[in-house]
Amino acid sequence: MIGHRGEDFKNLYRAIHPRLQTLFGTKQPVFLSTSSAWGVMEASIRNLADRGVLCCMCGAFSDKWFDVAKRCGKEAEPLQVDWGQHIDPAAVDRQLATGKFDTVTLIHNETSTGVMNPLEEICSVLTKYPDVALVVDTVSSFSAVKIEVDALGIDVMLTGVQKALALPPGFSLFSVSEKGFERAKGIRNRGFYFDFLEFKKEQANWMTPSTPSIAHIHALQSKLEEIFEEGLDARFARHAHTNALVHDWVHSAGFDFFAEEGFRSKTLTCVKNNKGIDVLEFARKLREKHHLVIDPGYGKIRGQTFRLSNMGDETEETVSHLLACIDDVM
Ligand SMILES: *Cc1c(COP(=O)(O)O)cnc(C)c1O
Repeated sequence: MIGHRGEDFKNLYRAIHPRLQTLFGTKQPVFLSTSSAWGVMEASIRNLADRGVLCCMCGAFSDKWFDVAKRCGKEAEPLQVDWGQHIDPAAVDRQLATGKFDTVTLIHNETSTGVMNPLEEICSVLTKYPDVALVVDTVSSFSAVKIEVDALGIDVMLTGVQKALALPPGFSLFSVSEKGFERAKGIRNRGFYFDFLEFKKEQANWMTPSTPSIAHIHALQSKLEEIFEEGLDARFARHAHTNALVHDWVHSAGFDFFAEEGFRSKTLTCVKNNKGIDVLEFARKLREKHHLVIDPGYGKIRGQTFRLSNMGDETEETVSHLLACIDDVM
């Protein structure tokens, strides 16, 4: 293990940083957080929210973020749609026009429902409100589809490493805009562990505020090698292709989609159990017979849905194999 205050660590952080900036589409620093994504999701609230938080809610993770904002003692209001529906940019616009909010939370890819929200359209609404900070969670879409932080004007973009990056859990990445840093300066009680200004100060010297999980950073370096060897466009195309394979299977097997048309995720598919199969039994058999694990639906839609992932390291071969095994068990 290398020491986190020595030259070896600085060289490691310095070496991975340009590629992280490329993946984020930003010239801002990219920070390394030794926490799961929720650490940074909570941190964004604590660093940015002063007057009011508008929480765009369309599934388990985005719904929970509203609860987290309130637990941080902030004024928060829900912009709730039914699970399976997307966040309507016009509704965001109407809410922001009230002037009540200075922060918006948005989950780009709602992993529980398989909805991918229209990020560009929502970001373009935000350009009308320069005093509002936008926090975007890309935990299950990061690096699978193109997301350009600076061009879109995103103030905090965050991702965990165990989903779209297919690394072991317990580590996160995030970027903060100049507007985000300026806002944080005026916010009291930011704490220490997740203080954005501490991250900024330390990153300038290729360090982190507290001892980072160095093993994760080595794993990340290795993953970045793979990602850039494949090429970003090829990586995006691979996800689009494997996603289309799953979609074709859903049609041919006579199932339906839980997410509404036009807003379906490119990295996972939430299949609606319109055929009334015993999803838990099906998932159990798939595991026992083929050693493949799928999720039998998240929270309140357990059993009414099941989810098939094509994110991270999945390829045409692995996804085709999964679908063939599913057919076998069906
Ligand atoms: C999994 C997930 C999270 C939470 O990640 P943790 O690793 O549990 O902190 C947040 N947002 C989305 C969209 C997720 O899929």
